[in-house]
Amino acid sequence: MTEDIFNIIGEGAKWLGIGGGSYMGALMGTSLIGLFYRDRITNTEQLEKILQEEKEKLGINEEVRGHLSEDFEGHVHYAQNDFLGGTPHIISIGGILARRNVVKHELYHIKKQHWNNRPKNSLLNMLDYLFRREPQAIAYGTFGLKL
Ligand SMILES: [Zn+2]
Repeated sequence: MTEDIFNIIGEGAKWLGIGGGSYMGALMGTSLIGLFYRDRITNTEQLEKILQEEKEKLGINEEVRGHLSEDFEGHVHYAQNDFLGGTPHIISIGGILARRNVVKHELYHIKKQHWNNRPKNSLLNMLDYLFRREPQAIAYGTFGLKL
């Protein structure tokens, strides 16, 4: 009996693993669509201009600084994660991710205040990231959909 339960759990975990893998693949694939767009950002002035334009579109008044990296990079460092305070949000992009749609993606995380209301449990937090925060940012960055 106990063995059966473990088998069922094992089977469930396997399918969850396969499902999770396919889901991640689809999610990544969707965000990769954006990489075929033109609008490659090659210098800081361009990045600042795009940041300003996209911030206005989203109605973000908070300070957001852009950082153009030499490396393949696309992420946002939330101001709220700096416990010393006083720093703005920083969006860092580089390599093939140095594009307008990636700036839009990261700005949407800021717009939706994704540093807030995260589950404390790390597994739930990961699921929240995969099924809520990241799809929202991808939908906006890639398709302009505000979910
Ligand atoms: Zn994201």
